[in-house]
Amino acid sequence: MKKILSVILALALMMTAVLAVADTSYTATGDSQIGGVGAVTVTVTLADDGSIKAVTVDECKDTAGICELPCAQIPAQMVELNSINVDTVAGATMTSNAILATVKAALENGGVDTTALMEKKEVVVEKAADEELTTDVVVIGAGGAGLAAAISAQQNGANVIVVEKMPKVGGNTILAGGAVNAVEDRSEFAIKQNDSVFWHYTQTLKGGDYQGDPELVMTLVSNAWDAIQWTKELGMEWYGEDRVFTVSGGLWPRAWKPVMPAGTGFFDTYTKYLDAHQDTMSLMLNTKAEKILVDEGGAACGIVCTGETGNTITINAKSVVVATGGFSKNVSLRMAYDAIWGTLDETVLSTNHEGATGDGVKMLQALQADFVQMGNIQLLPLGDPVTGSLSGNIEHGVDSRIFVNKSGLRYGDEGGRRDDMTRDLFAQEDATMWIVMDSDTYPTGDELNNFGETANQLVEAGRAVKADTLDELAALMGVDAENLKATIAEYNRHCTGGDLEGQADEFGRTLFGAPIDNGPFYAGARVPTVHHTMGGVRIDTKCRVYNENGEIIENLYAAGEVTGGIHGTNRLGGNALTDTVVFGRIAGESAALSR
Ligand code: ADP
Repeated sequence: MKKILSVILALALMMTAVLAVADTSYTATGDSQIGGVGAVTVTVTLADDGSIKAVTVDECKDTAGICELPCAQIPAQMVELNSINVDTVAGATMTSNAILATVKAALENGGVDTTALMEKKEVVVEKAADEELTTDVVVIGAGGAGLAAAISAQQNGANVIVVEKMPKVGGNTILAGGAVNAVEDRSEFAIKQNDSVFWHYTQTLKGGDYQGDPELVMTLVSNAWDAIQWTKELGMEWYGEDRVFTVSGGLWPRAWKPVMPAGTGFFDTYTKYLDAHQDTMSLMLNTKAEKILVDEGGAACGIVCTGETGNTITINAKSVVVATGGFSKNVSLRMAYDAIWGTLDETVLSTNHEGATGDGVKMLQALQADFVQMGNIQLLPLGDPVTGSLSGNIEHGVDSRIFVNKSGLRYGDEGGRRDDMTRDLFAQEDATMWIVMDSDTYPTGDELNNFGETANQLVEAGRAVKADTLDELAALMGVDAENLKATIAEYNRHCTGGDLEGQADEFGRTLFGAPIDNGPFYAGARVPTVHHTMGGVRIDTKCRVYNENGEIIENLYAAGEVTGGIHGTNRLGGNALTDTVVFGRIAGESAALSR
């Protein structure tokens, strides 16, 4: 018996060895429109019968907050369907395409005939039965404002359901630079910075040409510091005072930085909270709200959604929070409302995620909600020339960099308002500029930008250039070297006192850090990009929504980019994330307490 067993065991071991030998792995590195050259590395393992045994994405340099889902989902589907021609992931098309192309290349480079594996296969989903659910608070949108609202509603005793139409949480918030403007009034640090809640208030109002509602602005700035403390209580990590900076268009050094890159820290924190409170909270991804339900008295009482399989999901709720974000990705809406730019057709790229299509606007219009300042659409001069995204931006803070045009000349105040900086950029050749800085920011080149990318990675990916001398840098940028050197010499003169210390230069710039004289030098090209729709539904300081007659729509709340009247004509850099946490919390609390 023992003998037979050991023979069987030996045979089994031999077979495993044979199988292991028969599996073949193929690895390739491919390019992506976002991460550039060599952005994606994959490994594909085929079994001896040629079927797909495993696929892994070993490295992906695409944007944090976007690339995670396709990196997980596409390999899993390839194995499940035994096909390398599977669907792209909504909201992450470029990363998806990069993975698909690199997997194909890996096999073909290894001499595999991919004809059979290229057969298009789709996951067959059967339409699930329609559903009716009941909760206390339903939140539409799992971006920054929506998840802050959901957690705050739960903390105030409510059961909460969050619906999110995309396959992942995060919305635009996860793609943001991560800066949060907040002042701890009268703290030693605020005094040292010459800052106060009132100065934040004044700059926010003035920066938006006094179109922001003073009460909403006061609510924003006076709750900002608490908002950061609240995220800390939830477990989010922040850098200290030494990392406080002036974000582009932020006008003052009051932007605090989360430790995790871009907006990812918020969602790491929020989703952990959701996971830990599954008894009272649930999140439904791939679930698109179509309509807000109202009772006979006109009060909100739930929503109707389309579920993942195309089924109808009705959620009855005591109150509804709309946190659907903005409409920067909806070209017809932004063309219809734009009051600032003249044209915002599809040739103008956007920093936003695919889901920023203004669904909330449409759902709220059906309830005759009141909208304010819909024409106020914010552009940034900081978009990636290929994708419009904010990622890939080499700058850290305002005082360490300059903008030069294709002739190598400065053309405006790089420390000014976002709308002014964008208008200046539109006036330049091809509406394209280079951000130029030196090694003060990136001593080795391996330091991270605000998006978790190193300067060296950006250079490697072709998204930035790096050179030891300004002559070499100019050659890489394709600009006139004499112009660039003269421009930087004149700028440096101001950094070291200029004509008069503290005095503005010829472009009105007053924020001067250290001179740009410490090579290697870096430059990255940027274009105008649609960033934030500042108009939206009218709310009060409790996030209650008004209708066109100036009455409150009962049990209906809104927060975040879907709302209007806070930022006026021009939102200060660093105020959007503050907005999501401050008003998200308020909306959640109001919704929980309105029951
Ligand atoms: P904010 O900064 O205001 O929180 P975000 O863009 O971060 O805005 O988040 C808004 C979220 O709402 C996004 O994740 C978006 O996909 C989601 N969303 C938009 N429309 C709908 C809808 N109809 N149903 C469900 N979720 C939606």
